[in-house]
Amino acid sequence: MRKFTADRLVVASHNAGKVREIGALMLPYGVDTVSAAELGLSEPVEDGETFIANAELKARSAADKSGLVALADDSGLVVPALGGRPGIHSARWAINPETGNRDFIYGMGKLEEELKKIKGHRAAYFACALSMAWPDGHVESFEGRVYGTLVWPIRGHNGFGYDPMFQADGYDITFGEMEAAKKHDISHRANAFKKLINACFK
Ligand code: IMP
Repeated sequence: MRKFTADRLVVASHNAGKVREIGALMLPYGVDTVSAAELGLSEPVEDGETFIANAELKARSAADKSGLVALADDSGLVVPALGGRPGIHSARWAINPETGNRDFIYGMGKLEEELKKIKGHRAAYFACALSMAWPDGHVESFEGRVYGTLVWPIRGHNGFGYDPMFQADGYDITFGEMEAAKKHDISHRANAFKKLINACFK
């Protein structure tokens, strides 16, 4: 397991929210973060078949182009009874064909239609892969998960994406009803970050 010893890290994402969140998480470790967008790095094609493959190819691409250590993530919702869908295609699954826009009310409705067909199996998990790539080609990857059930009708307005449909095991409220701080404590992303911090920053 390689430790992170530099003082600067590229966050390989063009999503400003993600970059801010990762920057805040890295602050206690004295790490200064810069985003791939700020460095003008182009985004690679995400053609991996797993969350880790996609996180790795994004981190590798940013490390190669910048000469700095890079961190990337990839995440989504997995429903085993639907053969793992929407999985790595979670963002695309929510594109409404009528408008061409991403619309999670539409995406959750489509998920419910599929679940109705199979009756019963509503277990699901959110997964988050995090990959750290060094310019010499070394990569460390971690996956975090949070297991739960998909509820219908959807409940709550907090969070984003599929949160109003997802109830984590041991809770009777959805991520859409949960306080942000609580979700950040138990989420797939928190779980993956704990693994990364323990392995590469301690
Ligand atoms: P990406 O990791 O930016 O490619 O986005 C993955 C997609 O997975 C998001 O657009 C959401 O649809 C979904 N997703 C990932 N994490 C969460 C979460 O914490 N809550 C709800 N949806 C999520």
